Amino acid sequence: MLCLCLTVTLVLSACKNNKPSPTSEPNSTEAVTEASTEAAKTDGIDYMALVNKTHPLPENWENQLETVHMTNSVGDDVEVEKKAYDAYLKLKADLEKEGVFVDLDSARRSVADQQRIMDEFTKEYGADYAAKTVAKPGYSEHHTGLALDLYLIVDGKDIVENENMIKYTDIWAKIHQKLADYGFILRYLDGEEHITGYGYEPWHIRYLDNSDVAKEITAKGITFEEYLGAYSGGDVKIDYGSSEIYKEDELKNAVIQIKCQFAFWGNIDLKSIRYAGDEAVTKENLARMNEINPDAKYTQVAEFLMDFHTPTDVGETTLKANSDYTDYPWWLARTADGGWDIVSFGD
Ligand SMILES: [Zn+2]
Repeated sequence: MLCLCLTVTLVLSACKNNKPSPTSEPNSTEAVTEASTEAAKTDGIDYMALVNKTHPLPENWENQLETVHMTNSVGDDVEVEKKAYDAYLKLKADLEKEGVFVDLDSARRSVADQQRIMDEFTKEYGADYAAKTVAKPGYSEHHTGLALDLYLIVDGKDIVENENMIKYTDIWAKIHQKLADYGFILRYLDGEEHITGYGYEPWHIRYLDNSDVAKEITAKGITFEEYLGAYSGGDVKIDYGSSEIYKEDELKNAVIQIKCQFAFWGNIDLKSIRYAGDEAVTKENLARMNEINPDAKYTQVAEFLMDFHTPTDVGETTLKANSDYTDYPWWLARTADGGWDIVSFGD
């Protein structure tokens, strides 16, 4: 059984956890409070809570969370927040009337689970690699219990692999149409990676416990971040230029990596990203990439240029506040059969 979104959030090859400078990160172990105490229960969780790469799980969440366990069609145990599960069952029943069959691949993952994965990776591969490849504990929407990864059952067959599932665009369209009626939204929209921090995931839905709000967000076609005012930038201009070396699809994949990484910086108004041109694809630049990451053995390099405007609060980054940045460089590299790595940015 593949872990779908799990692999995306656990192994962030697409979206590495680097800020513009090394900064002090919150001590993730202090967020791990798996031992829940009944006394800590108050009036429940905030169903509108934002959890993403810059917004951690709210304090005390895990003590207040009420969950149920279910077993999916492939025999895996899935833990889901109680009301989200009830709403999911209604959505599922409604979809079945139209001949669409779904099941739950994964939902809640505790901060402790994520910490354990981080610890295992640290032990096995070292802290640097772990920080690059494992999502930081506390910063996954799956911690909330309100994020659900669906998979499809088509002609009685479980379709669980991302690259297979994504082909069923008609089925996803039917599913997406009904989400808001049951208080869910589609969370990771195509093209909005710089806001959400994730590539398009038709299967990752988020429960809001409010179908009016879900309908408003869906009708406007905006991200949850924008609805909550956590992102205030405008449209982003993407220019792939003309390349004799790379196809537009290859450049598009590189841009998604850049946007996912950019989302770590928080609410910065991204104006444009453009391919710097084949002139930057030189032996010297490739050698520089391999000097930075000697183990990677890259064979291809590409440069992109970005324009953005920083807000008055730039958080932990070393960026200047309230400033325009133009031609900010991003250097990516890859091996012949690998995906793009962001090797350096800013110089
Ligand atoms: Zn997910």
